[in-house]
Amino acid sequence: MTKYPGIKKIQKAFDLAADVPMRQYTRFKVGGPAELLALPRTRQELVAILKTAKDESVPVTIVGGGCNLLVPDQGIRGLVLVTTRLTSGILADKKTDQKTRLSMDAGERLSTVCRYTVTHGLSGLEFCAGIPGTMGGAVMMNAGTATQGIGSCIHCLEVLNLDTLMVTLLKKQHLVFTYRCLELTNHLILGIHLELTSMNPDQVKNNFDAHLKHKQKTQPMDLPSAGCFFKNPRPNLPAGKLIEDAGLKGEAVRDAQVSPIHANYIVNRGHATCQDILDLKARIQKTVFTRYGITLETEVRLTGKREKTR
Ligand SMILES: Cc1cc2nc3c(=O)[nH]c(=O)nc-3n(C[C@H](O)[C@H](O)[C@H](O)COP(=O)(O)OP(=O)(O)OC[C@H]3O[C@@H](n4cnc5c(N)ncnc54)[C@H](O)[C@@H]3O)c2cc1C
Repeated sequence: MTKYPGIKKIQKAFDLAADVPMRQYTRFKVGGPAELLALPRTRQELVAILKTAKDESVPVTIVGGGCNLLVPDQGIRGLVLVTTRLTSGILADKKTDQKTRLSMDAGERLSTVCRYTVTHGLSGLEFCAGIPGTMGGAVMMNAGTATQGIGSCIHCLEVLNLDTLMVTLLKKQHLVFTYRCLELTNHLILGIHLELTSMNPDQVKNNFDAHLKHKQKTQPMDLPSAGCFFKNPRPNLPAGKLIEDAGLKGEAVRDAQVSPIHANYIVNRGHATCQDILDLKARIQKTVFTRYGITLETEVRLTGKREKTR
């Protein structure tokens, strides 16, 4: 892999680590090295790193908790910016008897925010029970269930334009959330403001626990994965059912396996590579297409430079 000439300058200026295996930063536990990796703790540090990367024409890949990412075995060229240290707590602002606004930085864990809402009797996020990752990643993915996404709880977002490095506030009415996606390119989410509804804490806890129990019962939570691998072709046509009906539950390419618990999960049984997962993905897509004429699209995001993958 040829290195970008500006890499050394950024590395020296911010004392960053080079050639860092991305399997440490993804839930799938696969992926080759990041040419350079930054874990900024403050917005100032983040902007300074991004400015230098821009001046040096080094491409930037944004990673949150890495729970929805598949990184190629060849690694990621340029700078990988991991947001997990961009946290400064959760701020609550009670607007009315019914409505409270919660604000947090993008690196805050979704699970931490969910716990906060349960403790403080704030309803709206219960359906996110058990979903791993950061708030920034959750908003970018419009994370949720087959019928709900976190976009429904957003009041506004603070975002950084990756070209101009200007920060703007985007209100709900200017945000387009679709199935597992926020339509926002070339921006980094810095801050999230949620609007939640006051409710008896026991009731919030019961709702949350019911979602968590269902998830733990129906989805494999113990082996590395990236959650559901494919998007459902239609709300009433789950990808998992198509894959299961095509007889692919348990199908494997080396250590990459279609989970025997939930057919829309590809799990890493130990030593799977990105290529193993991509080969299994291709096999699933081919089988489902041959049988049903449906092309399954991935929900998991393939990131970085993939020169040698098929
Ligand atoms: C066991 C398991 C269960 C899961 N269950 C669910 C589920 O029930 N529902 C569901 O929707 N998902 C689920 N997922 C997938 C995943 O948890 C969610 O998509 C999660 O919201 C991703 O957050 P992240 O911080 O890990 O994002 P990442 O995977 O790091 O990134 C996802 C995308 O968002 C971008 N991104 C991340 N942070 C920012 C930021 N601050 N600004 C701009 N872009 C950013 C990245 O570049 C990437 O394109 C599951 C995953 C696992 C491993």
